[in-house]
Amino acid sequence: MPKAGIVTVVGKPNVGKSTLLNRIVGEKLSITSPKPQSTRDRVVGIRSTADSQMVILDTPGLLNPSYPLQEAMRSTALRALDEADVIIYVVDATEGTPPPLKEAAGLEKSPRAPIITALNKSDKLSPNRTEGVATADVILVSALTGDGVTDLMARVEKRLPESPFLYPEDEISTQPVRFFVAEMVRETVLEQLHDEVPYSVAVQVEEYREDRSPLYIRAVIYVERDSQKAIIIGSKGAQIRRIGEASRAKIEAFAGSQVYLDLWVKVLANWRKNPGSLSRFGYQLVTGKSK
Ligand code: GDP
Ligand code: MG
Repeated sequence: MPKAGIVTVVGKPNVGKSTLLNRIVGEKLSITSPKPQSTRDRVVGIRSTADSQMVILDTPGLLNPSYPLQEAMRSTALRALDEADVIIYVVDATEGTPPPLKEAAGLEKSPRAPIITALNKSDKLSPNRTEGVATADVILVSALTGDGVTDLMARVEKRLPESPFLYPEDEISTQPVRFFVAEMVRETVLEQLHDEVPYSVAVQVEEYREDRSPLYIRAVIYVERDSQKAIIIGSKGAQIRRIGEASRAKIEAFAGSQVYLDLWVKVLANWRKNPGSLSRFGYQLVTGKSK
């Protein structure tokens, strides 16, 4: 009987969860950034070998929500914990001994799935600090260099339940291409702009036509204020052109074909605080107490 199950990657913002998911799947599925809170939604990657399949959920960082978008991010992470067969708890190895997941995530009780702690960014540690820290459930890895990741996978695989594969073995994600296109535009905004602007950005793909060559994509960058719109467009449209060019290059590499990217900027006042706007962008707000 093969093994298969859901593997949830959790941890604080910026510890390297998305980099680890990309490393495991061998494909850039999840956007990564030196800026915290780049992952908003959960990203599903699939890793299949001859006898096991992991459906891997990357999650937004666990944080104390201070506005509705962050509440949605936190409840996404908590739901993914509930669904997990195995949990990879990612921490930054340079920050010393991590608190238990239950404490770090502010959970009332420990999750039922087994937890493997990945001490990430081991490439930044000097060798004398890596001695003796690894145990059966704690492992040093570097998502950046790939060090320790094969070992981590072997340990996760051991704890997966026996089950037929959940998805076809050649699938690497469950999300539609549109999702990745929107994420690549958002990542480009994160790369090119600073301060508050990236956090106020949501991207929606409004038209996606595969029946044309080049592929036609119309996407809208939503911001919260007119002043942010002006920053994104830039003087004589120079900034939006730069965002468009860099985004298009990423989308073409991902799609493997030429792309015409028609990029727009619109203001949706205070969308991060508005439940209607949040659900429009696919961020699920869960009402009531999280478990
Ligand atoms: P997330 O918020 O937990 O998803 O973190 P990201 O995957 O977006 O990574 C945050 C930052 O840490 C990025 O700048 C990554 O390049 C960096 N990073 C991730 N993994 C490693 C690692 O193993 N070593 C080092 N040196 N940097 C890393
Ligand atoms: Mg992330």
